[in-house]
Amino acid sequence: MTCLECSKQLDPSEEKASMEVLGVQLCHAHKKRMARLMESHGTPKEAVQLYYGLKEAGVTAMLEWWDGTKSIDIAISRVKLNIEIDTEYHMLTHEQAINDLEEAMHSFRNGFTTIRIPHVLIKYYLKETVNNILGIMEGLRVHIKAIN
Ligand SMILES: [Zn+2]
Repeated sequence: MTCLECSKQLDPSEEKASMEVLGVQLCHAHKKRMARLMESHGTPKEAVQLYYGLKEAGVTAMLEWWDGTKSIDIAISRVKLNIEIDTEYHMLTHEQAINDLEEAMHSFRNGFTTIRIPHVLIKYYLKETVNNILGIMEGLRVHIKAIN
């Protein structure tokens, strides 16, 4: 297996360590860099997995993109799509729910679409999740073309 960032050949212990912590194959240097980003932003590892899943499908996305007020888990700027990974569905309070709705409202007003994806979906249905995002991107592209 090779590093998803630099294509360096991974030795078995390197691969095992990266898969355990991130669920994706990264060399020691790139794993360290990713771990630092995750730590400073509280990024769920499913966001990292989805980021690389999208990359594999040819989609350029940004991890922890700063939109001016908050950090977005994954942003696909070309079609103004923001993706947030929900990690604690069972603990969703009404305060959190109204905050999410307000955030979505602000995004829409700025021309961005926000979708929230439960982390378990990425864990069990990564391929399907990526395919659906590709479909959403296609729809957004058509829409953006129509208004410009
Ligand atoms: Zn690397």
